[in-house]
Amino acid sequence: MKKLHFFAAIIGIIVMSMAFYSCEKNASGRNTLSLVDDGTVMTMAQEQYTAFLNENPPVTGTPEADKVARVSTRVIGGVQQYLSDIGQSGLVSGYQWEFNLINNEQANAWCMPGGKIVVYSGILPLTATDDELAVVVGHEIAHAVLKHGNERLSQQLLASYGGAALSTLMSQNPSDAQQLFAAAFGVGSTLGTLAFSRKQETESDEAGLYYMAYAKYNPNAAVTFWEKMQQQSTANPPEILSTHPSDDTRIADIKTFLPKAMEYYNKQQ
Ligand SMILES: [Zn+2]
Repeated sequence: MKKLHFFAAIIGIIVMSMAFYSCEKNASGRNTLSLVDDGTVMTMAQEQYTAFLNENPPVTGTPEADKVARVSTRVIGGVQQYLSDIGQSGLVSGYQWEFNLINNEQANAWCMPGGKIVVYSGILPLTATDDELAVVVGHEIAHAVLKHGNERLSQQLLASYGGAALSTLMSQNPSDAQQLFAAAFGVGSTLGTLAFSRKQETESDEAGLYYMAYAKYNPNAAVTFWEKMQQQSTANPPEILSTHPSDDTRIADIKTFLPKAMEYYNKQQ
């Protein structure tokens, strides 16, 4: 019995020290768990994105598709300008940006590492103006830039696989690795997805506001958009809330970021 306790303690120490040594600061300055290397993540993201689009062909040549293209292009420009101004262009150096509208009634959107943006047609009725769509696109890009999916994936690797590296899991059990990846990055629809934490949500709300402000979209639209989400959350909760959990403090937090965002917005030509 004593021996068992001893081994359990040793294993506990090993796992905890792996977690400790695998910590890195994300772009918001928070210590995050990182058991996945960016190269592996980019490769898997590209594979999943391609597979997703094969099953969900993008809509082209409609006013809605044009709106997604117009807003995404401008927000991407804002992201690049903002990161350049704060000396963090390296965060998107390997990105090859793409954006798509797909026909799906879910009110949802995501951005994979590497800059692959997908907007579901179901969210368009909730984003009446370009400013409101910019809120969604900016927020999703922020999750990718701040490596939140990598963090969720690392937490799952620690919880379910004792902190194995993703590349190890890939070689030993590729289907588990792919399922874990899809859940962590919110791509899977049938497999279930993992929700971002409230900390991650707040970080993305803040960074997303700055990106859209740099793109000359009015950051005040974030308040109206999330108010709409909240109103809908009881009767008919939009899909986006299941991966992007909200609470009463979200709008209050956004308001504390608005003065700085408006400063950026007013500086743009
Ligand atoms: Zn989110």
